[in-house]
Amino acid sequence: MRIPKEAWDCDGFGRRNFLKTTGVATALGLTGGALLTGSAYADALTKAQRDRMTPEQIIEAMKDGNERFRRGERKNRNYLREQKASARGQYPAAVLLSCIDSRAPAEVIMDLGIGDIFNCRVAGNVENDDILGSMEFACRLAGAKVVLVMGHTACGAVKGAIDNAALGNLTQLLAKIKPAVQATTYSGERSAKNYGFVDAVARKNVEMTIDDIRRDSPVLAELEASGAIKITGAMYNLETGAVEFFA
Ligand SMILES: [Zn+2]
Repeated sequence: MRIPKEAWDCDGFGRRNFLKTTGVATALGLTGGALLTGSAYADALTKAQRDRMTPEQIIEAMKDGNERFRRGERKNRNYLREQKASARGQYPAAVLLSCIDSRAPAEVIMDLGIGDIFNCRVAGNVENDDILGSMEFACRLAGAKVVLVMGHTACGAVKGAIDNAALGNLTQLLAKIKPAVQATTYSGERSAKNYGFVDAVARKNVEMTIDDIRRDSPVLAELEASGAIKITGAMYNLETGAVEFFA
């Protein structure tokens, strides 16, 4: 997609750079400009910077961050500066629903900083009333413009749901994933030992969770219908480090 240069006058999330960039500008097919790369310290997102980004531009920034992660070209962040700049207010661009898996930290794999996103984490990235309340706060009150449900490959919670694992409170959590197990169309072996099936269920679980969010949260559904936010999904591949966005 084409993105106006003014949306990208700073670093990946539109922040003002406090040090000169190295002058390395990488053309990324953007109309009329280039996305500045190189060494740059970033402040936290301001309200004005966040507000002028469209949901599509925010998704593009997350894609770019994952590309940097995969190339080993992370932003040279000054976390202390981001912490100080965001202490009196936060203007995150997106709210994520992702798994607790220790290998899938959204902020790291999409090269994001302090104040960039809200991140709800729960095993199997399933929604519930409290998650929806958090998302409604994030979008309706705090101004986030993207709801991203991110599943991942080789998900232990998905395996547990396939295997009908039972343990304390985990049982009822896995029950929320089981509809995705049933709904997954798959021609091979339908077992937790088959990673092809596990990943197919994880993808279906993301798709169904997105549908659940729209169904169970009129607040978010109305925001999406008005174009104020975009609700979409992604799958993170533990092997390749790539985040595949659905949109
Ligand atoms: Zn997981």
